[in-house]
Amino acid sequence: MMIVMMVKAQLKCIECSTTYALDQVRYSCDCGGLLDLVHDLEALRGQVSRELFDGRIGGETLADASGVWRYRELILPAPQEVIVSRPEGNTPLYRSPRLSQWTGLDDLALKHEGENPTGSFKDRGMTAGVTQARRLNARAVACASTGNTSASLASYGAIAGLPVVIFVPEGKIAFGKLAQALAYGARTLQVAGDFDAAMRLVQEVCRELDIYLLNSINPFRVEGQKAILFELLQQREWQPPDWIVLPAGNLGNTAAFGKALVELRQLGLIGRVSRLAAVQAEGANPFYRSFTGGFRRRERVNADTIATAIKIGDPVSFSRAVRAIQWTEGVVTQVSDAQIMDAKAQVDAAGIGCEPASAASVAGARRLAAEGVIKPGESVVAILTGHLLKDPGATVDYHLNKLGNITPAYANAPTAIEPTLEAVRAALGSAWA
Ligand SMILES: *Cc1c(COP(=O)(O)O)cnc(C)c1O
Ligand SMILES: [Zn+2]
Repeated sequence: MMIVMMVKAQLKCIECSTTYALDQVRYSCDCGGLLDLVHDLEALRGQVSRELFDGRIGGETLADASGVWRYRELILPAPQEVIVSRPEGNTPLYRSPRLSQWTGLDDLALKHEGENPTGSFKDRGMTAGVTQARRLNARAVACASTGNTSASLASYGAIAGLPVVIFVPEGKIAFGKLAQALAYGARTLQVAGDFDAAMRLVQEVCRELDIYLLNSINPFRVEGQKAILFELLQQREWQPPDWIVLPAGNLGNTAAFGKALVELRQLGLIGRVSRLAAVQAEGANPFYRSFTGGFRRRERVNADTIATAIKIGDPVSFSRAVRAIQWTEGVVTQVSDAQIMDAKAQVDAAGIGCEPASAASVAGARRLAAEGVIKPGESVVAILTGHLLKDPGATVDYHLNKLGNITPAYANAPTAIEPTLEAVRAALGSAWA
């Protein structure tokens, strides 16, 4: 006799616990609360194991090759034929003596999510979100974005053959990201206003025009982003680091990491959860402000930071992220734009490279080490969220000392010379001559 185990996943409101079927087009509860995709962890307990996931590495199917769908039981129960994958994930864990020394953290590793197909971790959520769009027979997909979400959606939508509409805040999107959206063929609308205005608009548009919304309010994107955590733990032979440090903007990743850790512990795949440290830019710090007030109030700010990917004043996944910090005994900290850009210069000069927002995690880790929050000897994984080439403008302006209010500590400006050997000798200085 064959016993078919029906694993029932459903959507559940994180405020009032109302449940909804997975095949409904729905992003929030009738009460306004955010939705979680809840898996039947009891049923999954007998089905998933470290060995199952380890055995899929090197597998030939698209699902096994993907650093998201390798963990499919814990992401989205979808038939493999409908999966829209590049495949994403499989990003490296770097170690750098230079960065250990600069941050004061002996046991520091960097997981580089900028080495995903479109250059940011957004691909992890997008493969799940666009797969769900396909399952729902969506006629089109849309998002509001500071850049990386739109770049990712434009690519995955093109692969799925779905029309893509993206809403970007006018004049505030880094060049690498805008170039991707246009190149992948997305209908691009530049909204006169900031990200938060574009976000409100896209929600209304999706409701009125019957377009599937793929911002991180979408619970399926959060599920895909959990795989950053799954993969990083698998790379560490399922040994959780003491700390995981990440940049925090719209708080989708913070939410996803907390959920991933708790699920793995409930399944017995890990014995303890890592502490999360979410890092905000000083000029875009609503989550930090709320944390310092014991999360008694939800804060909103008018966001301003050079790190455009975290320039968000009213984060969508706020309540999910509060829960993640509480579940993991986590902390929230903040760093200045100058600290972000100096940390970026260090990550870049280590030969690794990242976009400005990513460097917030390294700047934040350094700050937490200096304050003694992260203790000497504790193991730390910092997440680099986006690729160096996403925002060439910020990088070049830093090295040319053209950032106005930021004085670069580690500028590496080019030297203009005449085309002669003497000029080269003079430029390189005595050490080379
Ligand atoms: C989206 C993004 C972030 C912010 O992540 P949230 O999940 O919105 O907090 C940080 N860095 C980069 C490069 C991003 O693209
Ligand atoms: Zn509800």
